Amino acid sequence: MAQLRFEALKKLGERPRVHVEQPTTLVSKLFGENVFGLEQMRATLAPAVFKKVSQAIKNHEKIDESTADAVASAAKSWAMAKGATHFTHWFQPMTGGTAEKHDSFFDALAGIEKFKGSELVQQEPDASSFPHGGIRSTFEARGYTAWDPTSPPFLYGKTLCIPTIFVSYTGETLDTKAPLLKALKAVDLAATKVCQLFDKDIQHVVASLGAEQEYFVVDKALFNARPDLVMAGRTVFGHSPARGQQLEDHYFGSIPGRVYDFMKDFEFEAWKLGIPVRTRHNEVAPSQFEVAPLFEEVNVANDHNQLMMDVMARVAEKHNLAVLFHEKPFAGLNGTGKHNNWSLITDTGINLYQPTSSARDNLMFLTFFVTTIKAVHAHADLLRASIATSGNDFRLGANEAPPAIMSTFIGSQMSAVLDELEKKGNVKIEKGDNMYMKLGIDQIPEIILDATDRNRTSPFAFTGNKFEFRAVGGSDNCAVAMTALNTVVAEQLDQFHEAVTKQIDKGEEKRLAVVNVLRQYIKESRDIRFEGDGYSDGWVQEAAKRGLSNIKTTPRALDAYLTKASMDLFEKHGVMSHKETEARVEIRLESYIKRVQIEARVMGDIAMNHIVPTAIAYQSKLINNANGLKGLGVDNTAVVQTIREISGHIDTIKNNVRAMVDERKRLNKEGNTHTRAVGYCEDIKEKYFDVIRDAVDKLELLVDNEDWPLVKYRELLFLR
Ligand code: ADP
Ligand code: MG
Repeated sequence: MAQLRFEALKKLGERPRVHVEQPTTLVSKLFGENVFGLEQMRATLAPAVFKKVSQAIKNHEKIDESTADAVASAAKSWAMAKGATHFTHWFQPMTGGTAEKHDSFFDALAGIEKFKGSELVQQEPDASSFPHGGIRSTFEARGYTAWDPTSPPFLYGKTLCIPTIFVSYTGETLDTKAPLLKALKAVDLAATKVCQLFDKDIQHVVASLGAEQEYFVVDKALFNARPDLVMAGRTVFGHSPARGQQLEDHYFGSIPGRVYDFMKDFEFEAWKLGIPVRTRHNEVAPSQFEVAPLFEEVNVANDHNQLMMDVMARVAEKHNLAVLFHEKPFAGLNGTGKHNNWSLITDTGINLYQPTSSARDNLMFLTFFVTTIKAVHAHADLLRASIATSGNDFRLGANEAPPAIMSTFIGSQMSAVLDELEKKGNVKIEKGDNMYMKLGIDQIPEIILDATDRNRTSPFAFTGNKFEFRAVGGSDNCAVAMTALNTVVAEQLDQFHEAVTKQIDKGEEKRLAVVNVLRQYIKESRDIRFEGDGYSDGWVQEAAKRGLSNIKTTPRALDAYLTKASMDLFEKHGVMSHKETEARVEIRLESYIKRVQIEARVMGDIAMNHIVPTAIAYQSKLINNANGLKGLGVDNTAVVQTIREISGHIDTIKNNVRAMVDERKRLNKEGNTHTRAVGYCEDIKEKYFDVIRDAVDKLELLVDNEDWPLVKYRELLFLR
């Protein structure tokens, strides 16, 4: 094992830089060249057919068979001209990640390449090996995938990929995309209705997402020499290096050469796939980086994020690197998030979270702003649940990550505006008064937040013209969080509309009715607003005083989905039926259990088969030494002391690994998934992980460096 470590380190030393063949054309020339989007359709389809498809895409309608055939045929020709041999329906099952099953265009019976409209529109992958959370009865294993025309097909390798939703034969959705599309529709409906109180021209509202993706990069050989990274995506052991992130020298520092080559390479691949990658920089921890695209409509942005993660993993391979998206790959260092920048934009081009210099528009801005805060207040637990994963449990509330307490940060200026509005709400507005001036909302500065007024410690921060849901985990599919967020905002907008309409019906002036409801919302949601340091212990106490939840673990957090209120909410907005919600929770609990189980096994395995034998071997050397010293009449107290310490740690490891295995055996017999998940959390992870890790990490400091089997943190993290 130690041999593996040193071989890996030797490889690392000898790595040549991988030469990246950079296209010499402008990015604008190659951007989206592997996407069969509207432009390509216009170029390849008869005008009448193109009109039908583009209308259908715009209005989210089904396309008829002959249109589908024409699109399929054009897509096939386009893809084959670029060397494609296969096609696949590309979908996002609830395992996280994406799934595909490739079929060849070549039809051996007919002796030609074929791609029918029906194959574009619908496929029937066997659903039996995908998680279903009890939805699918055993006799009905089939499921089908259906084209999502709002996300364009793309060429990946030699395969034409068609973004699809995944549904069981009984009609329940089995993926993350279908509920997302429904939530986006719900927020469109609700937001449009509210917009029309202010502006009748607005017909649609589109939610947009810019997902900043953090990640770590490590050398592939070192990665392979760490069974925990390979199996669990994170290191379960490892003493913190002498130098971690305390020098604060990595953030925005110069990017190491090998990583820079990798970035340039994957960015080109991403651009060709139409992914609008824009920003790259170092993150806070050593070997941690970030890539951010330009925001897009949520569904497409999320497809692009999923695809980009895949592109990154593949391109990293070429550079002898491994990318880690896990929320907490290294204890003691910053975790990995995926900040979901989110806003609502009208079809007339107004960002509803962008304050303007027009007082009238500002009332609409304030409506969306305050309603969103109110939604976060009302559904904090559900939003917390939406980002709950075993990985994120390690990240939230540790090393510069937002805690599991939901709160919003809005900045001092917006706080002042809301306080003013709340206070002045009682001001009597007479006919002919300038209401906006009287309420102090006539001039909200256009660009509200500068860099000094950025709070990076909030899980849900307003950043000037958008909210940033920062609590989302690095490896997560944004669809889950975005489904929850857009649904709760849709619900709150509906309630807002209803309340305002009621007042208008009673004879209140429209603008005043709006202000009245906003004032009430500001009051009611005050507790969710927090402008201080979200990482501080003080906040944990303060939040408890305010009655805000701080649900630290996934199995407990997920309960928020199962309240009657949450299930009814999803059902009311057509996002998920009760059955679908329950199934999703079941799947996520199962996934939680499996992940903790894998980690527990990896821990046990490495500790017992690698660490303990190494420690014993080293201890034997010390015993020889101690005996030798004694024979010479030299004081051997220090050596004997070390021998004792090693024995102590070995005992700790053995006893706890054994007890942990017994506990797993007990829990595996537990039939109730929720009970089992809570058990895996509280009786395994919380009880044993830290104890075992502590003993192993102490041994790392005692055992001769030459003998230590695991690649050390300092070796993993300081890539050049
Ligand atoms: P930060 O300072 O937090 O890194 P940036 O301004 O660089 O913020 O933007 C981060 C992400 O937010 C980018 O992906 C960007 O495209 C996205 N973004 C900007 N405006 C919006 C918006 N209106 N809606 C959604 N995302 C947005
Ligand atoms: Mg950000």
